[in-house]
Amino acid sequence: MHTTIIKVDRNNPDRDKLRFAADVLRSGGLVAFPTETVYGLGANALDEKAVYGIFNAKGRPSDNPLIVHIADTGDLPRLVREVPETAQRLIDAYWPGPLTLVMKKSDVIPPRITAGLDTVGIRMPSHPVARELIALAKVPVAAPSANISGKPSTTTAAHVIEDLAGKVDVIIDSGSSEVGVESTVLDATVDPPVILRPGGITPEQVSRVAGAVQVDASLFGRNDENFVPRSPGMKYTHYSPEADVYIVDGPMEKVVEFINRKCAENAAKGIKTGVLASEQTMRQYGPATVICAGDRNRPETVAAGLFDNLRRFDHLGVQVIYVEAFDAKGIGLAVMNRLYRAAGGKLINISGGGET
Ligand code: AMP
Ligand code: MG
Repeated sequence: MHTTIIKVDRNNPDRDKLRFAADVLRSGGLVAFPTETVYGLGANALDEKAVYGIFNAKGRPSDNPLIVHIADTGDLPRLVREVPETAQRLIDAYWPGPLTLVMKKSDVIPPRITAGLDTVGIRMPSHPVARELIALAKVPVAAPSANISGKPSTTTAAHVIEDLAGKVDVIIDSGSSEVGVESTVLDATVDPPVILRPGGITPEQVSRVAGAVQVDASLFGRNDENFVPRSPGMKYTHYSPEADVYIVDGPMEKVVEFINRKCAENAAKGIKTGVLASEQTMRQYGPATVICAGDRNRPETVAAGLFDNLRRFDHLGVQVIYVEAFDAKGIGLAVMNRLYRAAGGKLINISGGGET
């Protein structure tokens, strides 16, 4: 398949270029487009065959549902059976933005989108290019992250080209996604609402509006055979670079000491090792491929570059990555969730005394 790549200025989207992409969507094609969270792989949500194309291009398991994107709150009522009162307050506060609300679906949503569930996740992105594209397409747009299933999500067009060139009709390039992690997925069918996937809107932001919020206990759970996820996407190993990822948690001095020791051991064995470190500690590592994750006191800086950094390690041929743990506070919860999944649950806890 030929993939057309078009550059569109984030702050001043060219409508003619977007009209071309919108027509591709309307006629059943696949368009990768920028959002404020990550790049999305879009298809007309009302066209079951087009939606099948998304699963096919990504190699996505068919039981993992898709999020439906809209450009205007007026597009919502026909997609859901009802908008619960708490959901409405969250919409007023955080749409457009990185919050997906799971509500009871209406009959216009094809079952393939929701993997047979009677609920659908809906969000209104704030990215001007995403909004304009969806508005011009005049259809709701189903879109998961625009990456090969299981790999780190894409936050630049270059990432999308790496994963999906030749598999989709159009890739829109508008630079980097600013948030860097996906939307928060919130089950709004229950009270208080439950965070199924942490993301760009923090638990604190949700509870400020909803009065309370629950965070699903299985977010950091292991994916053993008996694991029954509340959100199908929780089942899968996810966001994983080629390299083996380990998260190291504990007092920072001990973490640095442990990782330095591992780097030296690996170097002796000829294993190329990477370290994802904070601005605060990155200079304390000996010979290793060190990438700066951002400022540990400003988790939004870590989120913004997270997937790009994981992909960079692969480009550098790193085989094992040690990642410093970050505080799971604010958007740091989403950062740690993605890292935990990328690591396949491999978290090493260093207490004051050494490795535990
Ligand atoms: P992706 O867009 O690939 O980043 O993944 C979308 C995420 O939203 C997945 O983890 C899904 O499991 C979750 N999701 C989408 N729709 C629903 C739904 N109706 N119920 C629960 N989770 C959902
Ligand atoms: Mg994804």
